[in-house]
Amino acid sequence: MREDQPMDLDAEACYRAIATRDARFDGRLFIAVKSTGIYCRPICPARTPKRENLAFYPSAAAAQEAGYRPCLRCRPESAPDLGVWRGTSNTVSRALALIEKGGLDGADVEALADRLGVGERQLRRLFRRHLGASPIAVAQTRRVLLAKHLIHETRLPMSEVALAAGFGSIRRFNETFQQLFGRAPSTLRRGTGAASPGPAGEVAILLPYRPPYDWPAMLAFLRARAIPGVEVVARDGYTRTIEVAGEVAGAHGTVAVRPATGNALRATIQFPQLSALPTIVARLRRVFDLIADPEVIGAHLSEDSRLAPLVAARPGLRVAGAWDGFELAVRALLGQQITVAGAATLAGRLVAAYGKPLAGGVEGLSHVFPGPERLADADLSSLGLTRARAAALGSLARAVVADPQIFGPRRSLEEAIVKLRALPGIGEWTAQYIAMREMREPDAFPAADLGLMRAMADRKGRRPSPGELLARAERWRPWRAYAAQHLWASQGMSYDRGEAPGDDRSPLRPLHPARLAAGGVRTDGDREARDAGARRATGRGGARPGRAGRRPVAARGRPR
Ligand SMILES: [Zn+2]
Repeated sequence: MREDQPMDLDAEACYRAIATRDARFDGRLFIAVKSTGIYCRPICPARTPKRENLAFYPSAAAAQEAGYRPCLRCRPESAPDLGVWRGTSNTVSRALALIEKGGLDGADVEALADRLGVGERQLRRLFRRHLGASPIAVAQTRRVLLAKHLIHETRLPMSEVALAAGFGSIRRFNETFQQLFGRAPSTLRRGTGAASPGPAGEVAILLPYRPPYDWPAMLAFLRARAIPGVEVVARDGYTRTIEVAGEVAGAHGTVAVRPATGNALRATIQFPQLSALPTIVARLRRVFDLIADPEVIGAHLSEDSRLAPLVAARPGLRVAGAWDGFELAVRALLGQQITVAGAATLAGRLVAAYGKPLAGGVEGLSHVFPGPERLADADLSSLGLTRARAAALGSLARAVVADPQIFGPRRSLEEAIVKLRALPGIGEWTAQYIAMREMREPDAFPAADLGLMRAMADRKGRRPSPGELLARAERWRPWRAYAAQHLWASQGMSYDRGEAPGDDRSPLRPLHPARLAAGGVRTDGDREARDAGARRATGRGGARPGRAGRRPVAARGRPR
């Protein structure tokens, strides 16, 4: 047993948490039983062992690295994975994001550290401090837990489970499980009866989260921005077409996500390459913001009296992520200076003209979103874009072809913003928006946003300047993205088309849904417009705060 036991864990508090099976600690704490060599979630129904027989770990990887194996009853793989939120190390958060994307599958820790701009030893030290485990142990645990999940939840043959969970070979898979559980992986399936039969090539998987989760708000946000032909948002579910870069060329499929019982979403994934499954799951977790710990974030934001009622009204509000960085950037560019509805129409045209037609019929899904290679040299003039917009789109596509990692995690938010702003057509607002939704930077914050300034207006209706807003937002760090989401929601920003009720408890009157639907009011999704407008005004790449949103964009006239 390792002596360098994780930090920050108060053993007495931990013991109280598990003695009461306190669900609030699920995902934050893992309990290892020394006599049995098993580690559990705090909610494990098994009898609580004596205090002196226990060790506490801040992550599954730490328990596993210390030699414990996951409990077959409470199934630690079903705990919400909050690794990214642990501690305050941005470097660890970014490293975890890279690992989840397979960053250690083909590369070593040194390469990972390199990408993050830190030394290998420093990265190991940070992991030890925040997660109690090494980067390699985290990656391995991730594979084991995903495999275990697939064994329990699907009927996939073991060879396919091995592949899907990211094991290089079936032998590795068997050896790992033999070592960990003392038996073959297939024996773990017997008797669980929790299979999810589906058509060939379809995998249904549960994605756990920490409650509460504001599913209607998430759905409303995605609905307002859905790209015709690529995404369908129905009453209770989200479906979209997908392609995974790096997989066999031309491979595409669909994912459908719905709420499930037991604090989880159920994703039904149809994709020809099972080896892409970890990537798909990782992306879905980002899109639906399943790594967030809303209680921690809410407690922090509630310290500001202005945000407290908003958090109380929507305690489970999440920041919707993006499936793909390029798609998000294109969508943002198309949305500049036009309404959300207008942007959707343009995106639909783009997809119909350049997207890959989808084989197999899911209603409403006709194409896969075109990749940067497809748009790099395409003649975009027929789409009804302005010449300048079409040129910016082409340049953006070429820039992404030249640097496919452009939307990958950076060593800091500031660096990410600088990189993004160097891209054609991307100003400060769009850069912050992409950092928020694609890079999952929880502290990204588009301060010059009209909706935010409106939401923060004082009783006399005076709006803060971007500078004032930025100063106020200092106290919201490191979760300014969530503060922004709350402020938008308070303005009805995610609730166009009247799908979700206005928020009566909010001190701020929500906008009337009909006005949003009519496009007469700027919504956050169009805020990119300002980037372009301000750039023209200043002749540089920068947004000029202050001018922003002074009059409706429609009145500003067509861009050149
Ligand atoms: Zn257990």
